[in-house]
Amino acid sequence: MESDSTNNYEAIVHKKIKEMGEKGISQQELAKSVGLPIREISGIIKKLVEKKLVIKKAVKENGKNIVKLFAVDNTYNINIYVNLDSLEDIPCLSCKNLTKCGNGIHVSPQTCGKLSSWILEKTPL
Ligand code: SF4
Repeated sequence: MESDSTNNYEAIVHKKIKEMGEKGISQQELAKSVGLPIREISGIIKKLVEKKLVIKKAVKENGKNIVKLFAVDNTYNINIYVNLDSLEDIPCLSCKNLTKCGNGIHVSPQTCGKLSSWILEKTPL
């Protein structure tokens, strides 16, 4: 288990990398800006990379290739819409046995004629 101070440093380093946005930050610049030795920063970065919170990318600056750190934007805002129109007339929604129906008992979807007919009717040939 990680100590609180390790987690705090990790949070500080991650925040700094995030602040740099698309510009990114080199490991040396990061060490200077958060005031931690390079060795300690390396360990923290390794953990952040393993957690997929940070990526390392080689970028060209002033004709030189420099490895920079970038925060991964994992705050997705995904809306998933499921069209339930085809289930509108499923017999189960109006079935008087709905609360008594289940797998492995007398009234079950596996043996239900109404459900089988509905599925066959909906299945394209
Ligand atoms: S599977 Fe058949 S019995 Fe069970 S709830 Fe649906 S329609 Fe009713």
